[in-house]
Amino acid sequence: MSSDGNNPLRQFAAAWEATTAVVSEWAEQTAAVTSEAFRKLTTDPAIRAVLEKWRITVVFTRRDCECPCSRSHPDDVGICDKRAVITRRVSTSLDGDVEMPLCAPCAVAQGVAELPR
Ligand SMILES: [Zn+2]
Ligand SMILES: [Zn+2]
Repeated sequence: MSSDGNNPLRQFAAAWEATTAVVSEWAEQTAAVTSEAFRKLTTDPAIRAVLEKWRITVVFTRRDCECPCSRSHPDDVGICDKRAVITRRVSTSLDGDVEMPLCAPCAVAQGVAELPR
């Protein structure tokens, strides 16, 4: 990746990171925040598109991150901080839809890894 500040991938990563940072703060402070409020938080169309697709919910109880780092974002395997802040609904062939708890850095890394390049 170049150091070009106008790279859309970097812009997305920065905005997505800011969004998940707010959510982890919320998760520490209150149980009253809904994923609806989360969606309204961002006006960035790229991020809104990800949130729609992921069908996220905010995690308020203590859960561990279950991100399969080496498969989901092989470029950034060491970033996981283990403390889940959101869950992302994913479809599996065996169990149907399941909720995958994700920590903030993993959510950012997955979002970036899934952007069309
Ligand atoms: Zn991860
Ligand atoms: Zn993680």
